[in-house]
Amino acid sequence: MPKGYMGKILMVNLSDGTMEEQPIPDSVYEKFLSGSGLGGFILYNNIPPDADPLGPDNLLGFVSGLLTGTGSLFTGRWMVVGKSPLTGGYGEANCGGNFSPAIKRCGYDGIFFKGISEKPVYLYIKNGKAELKDAEYLWGKDAIETEETLIAELSKTRKPKVACIGPAGEKLSCISGISNDLGRMAARSGLGAVMGSKKLKAVVLDSAQKIEPANRYEIKALSQKCNKWVQFQPWFLSGNGLRILAALLRFLPVQTAMDGMLWKFMLRKWGTIALNQYSVELGDSPIKNWAGSNLDFTKEKSNAINPDTILESEISKYHCYSCPLGCGGICKGKFPNGETHKPEYESILALSGLCLTDKMDSVFQMNDRLNRAGMDTISAGGTIAFAIECYERGILTREDTGGLELTWGNTDAMQALLEKMIDRDGIGDILADGVKKASERIGNNSDQYAIHAGGQELPMHDSRFDPGFAVHYAVEATPGRHTIGSQMYYEMFRLWKKDKSLPRPWLMYLKRSKYQVTEKKAIEAAACSKFMNVLNGAGGCAFGAQIGVDRVPVFEWINAATGWNKTPEEYMAIGKRLQTLKQAFNVKHGIDPKSTKPSSRALGQPAMTEGANKHRTVNIDRMMADYWRQFNWNKDTGRPPEEVIDVN
Ligand code: SF4
Repeated sequence: MPKGYMGKILMVNLSDGTMEEQPIPDSVYEKFLSGSGLGGFILYNNIPPDADPLGPDNLLGFVSGLLTGTGSLFTGRWMVVGKSPLTGGYGEANCGGNFSPAIKRCGYDGIFFKGISEKPVYLYIKNGKAELKDAEYLWGKDAIETEETLIAELSKTRKPKVACIGPAGEKLSCISGISNDLGRMAARSGLGAVMGSKKLKAVVLDSAQKIEPANRYEIKALSQKCNKWVQFQPWFLSGNGLRILAALLRFLPVQTAMDGMLWKFMLRKWGTIALNQYSVELGDSPIKNWAGSNLDFTKEKSNAINPDTILESEISKYHCYSCPLGCGGICKGKFPNGETHKPEYESILALSGLCLTDKMDSVFQMNDRLNRAGMDTISAGGTIAFAIECYERGILTREDTGGLELTWGNTDAMQALLEKMIDRDGIGDILADGVKKASERIGNNSDQYAIHAGGQELPMHDSRFDPGFAVHYAVEATPGRHTIGSQMYYEMFRLWKKDKSLPRPWLMYLKRSKYQVTEKKAIEAAACSKFMNVLNGAGGCAFGAQIGVDRVPVFEWINAATGWNKTPEEYMAIGKRLQTLKQAFNVKHGIDPKSTKPSSRALGQPAMTEGANKHRTVNIDRMMADYWRQFNWNKDTGRPPEEVIDVN
């Protein structure tokens, strides 16, 4: 009976060039789903605890989602998994575009690589036949050139889909990612370096196997209903209006629960750049390496990142596979290299507010350069901000930087530094692996300016603004990511509408109550983690899910695709199993769960004395302990006891 997933993976041994199809029993999908759930299951059971992330024993998996290709909406994301060279633990990143269905159309739910090739190769699967091909001539090319070259060479009746690394991954930068769709990035966890260490330049997929859900008609009916919510759109939104709204909200002692439909309106009109000034005003965007505030990045400066201004250079919008919303865009005119992806909110703020520059031409250029090099914009921006602060404080000298005057807002120096990081040249070699490793190399107490969680640079959502981000930065097996949960995400997911055991948030509440540590907040944080495991198993987009699970029917789609008849509570229990599996992976690989706490500055320790986040401190130790208790892990150590780990 068709069930939405393909029932097997391909295991490629790059050391000897052999390949093996491995069937996956239905029981594994029922317990771990597909996507990052299947990926986590394979990683846990196959990577030895002492494996070097850049050595032959590490596995790198490209996995598609359980729902991808079934007719459901917002479900075209693919995930890359492996032991992370950045954190030393479970590594995971995901990306949209059109690569995810291509994995399943080759007949696999995932393609995994082990070993190390002697020379650069790429995997090519054409009509179900897989082979490793020479990639020596591609080595050194940037990610966009690589994809364009492969498509030009291999397109016949169809264009193949390509995931590849750029020079940053080749040079084993621990903040490098994997690109698809011409510069879109599965950026986090440094998995581009794992691909580089295996001498695997690209994965090229070109097959047309059918993906058959159990109940196509049911999926279609659910998708039509969902699409009505997506298409509803007011016309009166403006970028300045958002900024003014945020400035007003900042002064109120209360706030209302966030409804994801408002976020959907913003995404549909602008994409994630809708948040640019809004988040600066509210205190959601960290400024000046997390030491500044909206008072440093004033309206005059932040006007440069006004979403309406950026939209003037957008020449087309694009959608990921199966997405009715379409938050992506192509821009031109803001930089000299021609057309480029509209930078995301994360990239813009990491390269502007965090480094105190308002030169948008430079931000566009750096974003494009990072996409081509295959380097994570969040981590690169965080690392440049760290280097600037070290320079301003005299920890790095002009001699150290190779003559660069690394002062706040000096975009020429930022761009030159970025080139050095991509080339691993001089100071760039020290910085190319992110802030934690850089601060260990630089010494001189520079670690206090290295803002990260467990080695991964923090994203552009300030944990002092929403302490829910702090919890997830700290407790996730892949720490320092903003894509799992926060207090606001819980409000938007609307999980209580489906899982009746979950608490409904207050419609309006005092802002200061966000900083109180309560059992209810721990339940909500745990629910976000569980749900995101389900969503990442399904290949779902978090932006879609943030419209609310009563409007975007993730659980119902999975039942219709697989023929299962599970309740939302049962899916949340699968999410709990997956979260425990990933935590157990970290413990097995020597990660102390307490060590992934975000840097003190990001927690308001000490509290800021001015700006939108003044006097705000996050009580992270209690929040972590309360969260761990929700999973029946040891509340003092964060370690899951043997009896709660279910890995078979
Ligand atoms: S909302 Fe944006 S990121 Fe999500 S699937 Fe749609 S286009 Fe892709």
